[in-house]
Order: sequence, then C-alpha cells, then structure tokens
Amino acid sequence: MADAVEHLEKAGPCDDAAAPAPPASRQPSPGGSQPPAEELGARWRAARAGLAVVHLDAAAAGAASGAVVDAQVAHLAAEARLGSYAAQELAAERLDAARAALAGLLGPALTGADVAFHHSATSAFAALVGAWPLPPGGRVGIVPSDFSSNLLTLRARAARDGLELVDLPLLPDGRVDVDRLGRGEGPAALDRLDLVTFPEVPSQRGVVQPTAAVATLCRDAGVPLLLDAAQSLGQVDVAAGGATGGVTACVGTSRKWLCGPRGVGFLAVRPDFVERLGVPAPTGYTARWEPDPAAAGGGRLVAFEGVGRFDVGEAAMAARVGLAAALAEHVEAGPEAVRARVQALAAAARRRLDGVAGWRLGEDVASPCGIVTLTPPAGVDPAVARERLRRESGILTSAIDRTRARDAVPALRVSPHVHSTLADLDRLAEALDRATR
Ligand SMILES: *Cc1c(COP(=O)(O)O)cnc(C)c1O
Repeated sequence: MADAVEHLEKAGPCDDAAAPAPPASRQPSPGGSQPPAEELGARWRAARAGLAVVHLDAAAAGAASGAVVDAQVAHLAAEARLGSYAAQELAAERLDAARAALAGLLGPALTGADVAFHHSATSAFAALVGAWPLPPGGRVGIVPSDFSSNLLTLRARAARDGLELVDLPLLPDGRVDVDRLGRGEGPAALDRLDLVTFPEVPSQRGVVQPTAAVATLCRDAGVPLLLDAAQSLGQVDVAAGGATGGVTACVGTSRKWLCGPRGVGFLAVRPDFVERLGVPAPTGYTARWEPDPAAAGGGRLVAFEGVGRFDVGEAAMAARVGLAAALAEHVEAGPEAVRARVQALAAAARRRLDGVAGWRLGEDVASPCGIVTLTPPAGVDPAVARERLRRESGILTSAIDRTRARDAVPALRVSPHVHSTLADLDRLAEALDRATR
C-alpha cells in the first residue's frame, strides 16, 4: 500500500488537477484483508510507473504498461526506418501470436485463424450482424443491458429485414433467467429464435451473465449465440462459455480489461459456422468478383475464406502490435490470477464504498465482476461527482447516464484492475465523501 501512495505522490498531479491527491487513510479498510496476487499487483504498478492518476477506470480504458507503449513506439520507428510494409512483415509473428492468444482466451473451438482484428468491438459487432444469416421475419433474443451502439445496429438490421427483437427472460439484477429460458416460456422461447446476443458484462452494471448456461441451452436448441465480450475479456473466464460449444461468435476490444491501446477490436467465429456468413463490406480486402455471364450483373461476389471476409484492410499496425504486447502480459500474469485479484478488489471496493455519503451499491457485494456501480444520493449527479473526483483528487472513474443502455440508471462506475490497491479505494472513499458534500 505504502509503495503505491509513494509512487503516486512522486508522479505529480494529472493534467489540470488543481490539488494534489490527499494522503490515503491510515486505517485499514473494513474487512480489508489484502487482495490476492499482491506480488503481481506490485509488478503491474511498477510497469505503470508513469501513471499520474488513481486509475479506477479499467472498464473505460485500462492503464497501459510501459512495455505496451514501448512496443507501439518501436513499431512506428520501424515503419519510419524500414518502410511500413517491411515493418509489418517483422511484426507478423507477434500479430499471429496475438490472434492465437485471443483464441485461447475465447474458447477451445477456436484457433488464431478464426480471429480477425477490427477497429473496435462496436465495428466488429456491426460487421457480424450485417453479415449474419437471418430469415425475413426472423427473431433475435436480446437483453435490456445491450450496449446502446449494438442495439442501434440490431434495430437497423431489424428495420431493414423485418426482424423482431425480443427480450430474454431476466432476473431482477439484469442477468438472464436461465431456468425460465430453459423452460421455453414466453416470446423468447429458444425454439422460436434465430439468434441470441448479449454482452457478457454490461458496460453499466456490475454483473456477469451466466454465459455457459445460456450457451448450453442455445447449443441444444440449435440457436447461434453472438457474445459481446468487450467488457468481460480480461476479467471474466470467457472461455468457459466458449467450452460449451454454444458460443458461435464473439467480439471484443483491446482497450479495457486487456489494457491494450485504443482503436483495436477483434471478432472470432467458430470455423463450422463462418462460411454461412455474408460479406459485411464488399472490398478488395474481403471478397472477389467471379464473372458469370448468366448472373444478373454479369457475376457474383465470393467472400474470402473464413474470417478473411471481415478484414478491414488498412489499419494502424502499431496499435495491433500494442495489443499483442498487452496480451502477452496478460497471459504471462496468468488470466486466473488476474481474475482473482480484480474480483477481490471489486468486492473490497463495494464493502468500502457502500453507504459513503449516501451512495449505494448497484449490485451484490459478491458479484464476480470488476465493475462496481454506485447509485447517487438524492440530488447528486454522478457526472458532476466524477468530474470533481478527477479534478480535485486525480481519481479516474466513469459516470453512467441513461443513454448507455435501455436498463441504465445514473451511477458512478468504479473499475479497479490488477495494479489497484486498497489504498486507492480508501482515497476514493474519502474523495467521494468530499465530492458529494
Ligand atoms: C465498451 C463496450 C463496447 C464497445 O467497445 P469498443 O471497442 O469501444 O467499440 C461494446 N460492448 C460493451 C458491453 C462495452 O462495454
């Protein structure tokens, strides 16, 4: 703890912070035994020695390590020195290794060849939905916690093709009610659906969907499942859902729990399904033209094999190289140790923050999720509190407003990562108390 405090004090104030961060409480947190993997935490802090804020915002964008920054800088330098395409050739092995690492984290049915880089999880989701085989009048099972951009994509496709979007049965906390789904009750009975899609961890709630149980039901009913792992990969065992064989495809992002750079996302599709997908954006990167004098237009579009049909072509290779470095660090740390520490820190944050200045927990204390949400006391705007935390105390959190998802309620979102400490949580508790009064 003392190390982190010292490190933060040495690092100096963030951009426009008016006041330096106050000293952390010397009292131990209530019920506050140290979270597991303290040594790993210390290593991650040392690898982020330049961090000049108390970063409790991994759900927005995880703090990059020095090695991740260095890998990007080195790639840019190699582009300038050797030429961009020669530099890309030199990076090819690392990018292949990154795809293989992603496949390993997403599920045992996948190899690196089933993974494609994209601009973001949002663009990957839009590409998949655009290419997904859905019959006219088809029905898609969704949840109210869907990321708002994903919902827009689904609504646009639904409007174009006369699809119906139906909510899966839910528990009061927003998780899918597996029992009711399994009993096939209501409009979302699986035998009446053509696709199921949901975020494994929603952006605005500290819960984890029961992916493996839902995926098992989908598999048994023969309904494809498109999983949004943008907010879960790196803090939840996504491969456990993949291991059921029921997850058909998934999307994710570099910049959150994987602590990679912004501007990189990815998708993965099971090899036994991918050839059923169309071409999301016909370009020279994704498809070729096959002449056929008998066909209307004199030919037809033939998709490149596998996930090749999702190739975005031109991209910032340095960002992909940065993601490769972040994945190598994640795998080296041990995904299980990362998950255990993130969950313990989130639980500690919930115990420490519930009731501070009238803020209340938005989820169960023991929810196995790195996202902690706090609903404000009457008359307090989370966006104002978030801004005061940043400006007055150099603490990064996020404000959730109602636009984020259909089920979103105003809240402050706190998301610690491996490098976080109990002292960080004490600082937040004290600063939140001041920022609310
Ligand atoms: C952040 C997020 C996304 C979008 O990720 P991008 O890479 O920014 O497009 C999608 N779904 C969920 C649940 C998210 O939290």
